[in-house]
Amino acid sequence: MILSGWVQRLRDKGGMVWIDLRDRYGITQLAFEEGKTNPELLAKAKTMGREYVLKVSGKVVERYAKNDNMPTGDIEIFTSELEVLNKSEVPPFMIEDDTDGGEDLRMKYRYLDIRRNPVRNALELRHQMLQDTRQYLSNDGFMEVETPVLIKSTPEGARDFVVPSRMNPGEFYALPQSPQTFKQLLMIGGIDKYFQLVKCFRDEDLRADRQPEFTQIDCEMSFVDIEDIQQTFEGLVRYLFKKVKNIEIGDIPIMSYADAMTNYGSDKPDTRFDMKFVEVNDVAQGKGFNVFDSSELVVGICVKGCADYSRKQLDALTDYVRRPQVGAKGMVYIKYNEDGSFKSSVDKFYGAEDLKTIAEKFAAQPGDLMLLLSGDADATRSALSELRLKMGNDQGLMKPDTFNVLWVVDFPLLEWDEDSSRYHAMHHPFTSPKKEDFALLDTDPGKVRANAYDMVINGVEVGGGSIRIHDRETQSQMFKHLGFTEEEAKAQFGFLMQAFEYGAPPHGGIAFGFDRLCALFGGSDSIRDYIAFPKNNSGRDVMIDSPSPISDEQLDELQIRLKTT
Ligand code: ASP
Repeated sequence: MILSGWVQRLRDKGGMVWIDLRDRYGITQLAFEEGKTNPELLAKAKTMGREYVLKVSGKVVERYAKNDNMPTGDIEIFTSELEVLNKSEVPPFMIEDDTDGGEDLRMKYRYLDIRRNPVRNALELRHQMLQDTRQYLSNDGFMEVETPVLIKSTPEGARDFVVPSRMNPGEFYALPQSPQTFKQLLMIGGIDKYFQLVKCFRDEDLRADRQPEFTQIDCEMSFVDIEDIQQTFEGLVRYLFKKVKNIEIGDIPIMSYADAMTNYGSDKPDTRFDMKFVEVNDVAQGKGFNVFDSSELVVGICVKGCADYSRKQLDALTDYVRRPQVGAKGMVYIKYNEDGSFKSSVDKFYGAEDLKTIAEKFAAQPGDLMLLLSGDADATRSALSELRLKMGNDQGLMKPDTFNVLWVVDFPLLEWDEDSSRYHAMHHPFTSPKKEDFALLDTDPGKVRANAYDMVINGVEVGGGSIRIHDRETQSQMFKHLGFTEEEAKAQFGFLMQAFEYGAPPHGGIAFGFDRLCALFGGSDSIRDYIAFPKNNSGRDVMIDSPSPISDEQLDELQIRLKTT
């Protein structure tokens, strides 16, 4: 048998030498033994270093000491020939599942990191999901069409990456934040089912689950309504879960944005556990507790079986909600003790009867703990959402092998932006308003609901889309509401509005964040693990050291002058 691979480990017991040889498929033990192995070969085997690249041949024999932890643990190769294909420097970190290498070091030597099982497995998973997605959509009649990467700015909420054009000095291409306008033009072109596994680019401040370049499963269909889209893409998601994880996804509930916000304080609720919000203004106000009395909203959650939380644990929760990222001013707790008595942080204002009335609103049982926040409605809901997730996590309710898929629908079309004092499209400017809300556009724009939907899995927004506007008149009205002058709208989107005038079919679509979907399937919080060569938090590729300055000649050629200070 002939085998090629990298030296994972060498054990030299004098008369016996073992080398663990690693390739993409696993580790195989090579054996050399005094008396049986030719002495020169034995001596050579002893000089092999970690990560040397070897080609060996020998006989497969049963192992004396079997290793049940390895698929190839029953056998070894009694080696008769060994060729060193390449030497290796000592690697800067251990190429092991649990490596000693920190994130930065592993990113700098990502090619070594990729030799580790967890990274390779993540890339294998991604590969499988790419193949399965393509196959499913293609079998369903979708055509994969590539759209250009050098395009023109489209406002989708984020900043564009731009590329200077040498042939058109002073002018710039933009890298697509998504192929949104192109996929709509494909519908006008009569391609009634389009998809693309496509790189998108957004110049945003980065977080652990964001990358400046990322991949979408981008889709669009003509002559469809929301239900058609939901059905089609539930199919895709069900197929992926079955094929990749052998999991059957049950019914996929549809929740309105308004319900999601009222019950969970989030438009992407984690529904693996209940702990729904309970609003208690009617029973908590008017008892002399000024904090509640002066609040727009008093709302809480009931945590099952946690009435025995200690003072210290409760203080820690108060500290948690006060963190600037959560933003609450304080927290009120009510313990419904096992013996039926109550203990709260506001005993001064609330007697046993009052607390009992509040507990009834929560449908609390003896042994439960109620946690309440108060203040402005939006901010309080969002803080309580964080607290709910923390409690769900602390209580082990976010089971990693449970997958709850959910549609969130009826999003507001517009969202008020304090900074620019105007409305922004919540999804994007091509999303159509609900017909029945259309009249509100002029009177109460914030109330208009969109024909938009998100798919949420375990509290992660994995995909989103909408039924689009497909006529010029509505689209130009929409731009007007978004604060575009007629000239601006024409300059940026004239091509689309013109195309609408040549028989644009009704259409809609969706895009899934593919990296995120992979991370979810793989059980990780970070999409970086599923990208072969990711960028760090400052948007840098530390391996190739990019971004980097370019030469004066290049700058001259592009007619770009850098501002000198
Ligand atoms: N282009 C949208 C996005 O990237 C998705 C869609 O509306 O289809 O979020």
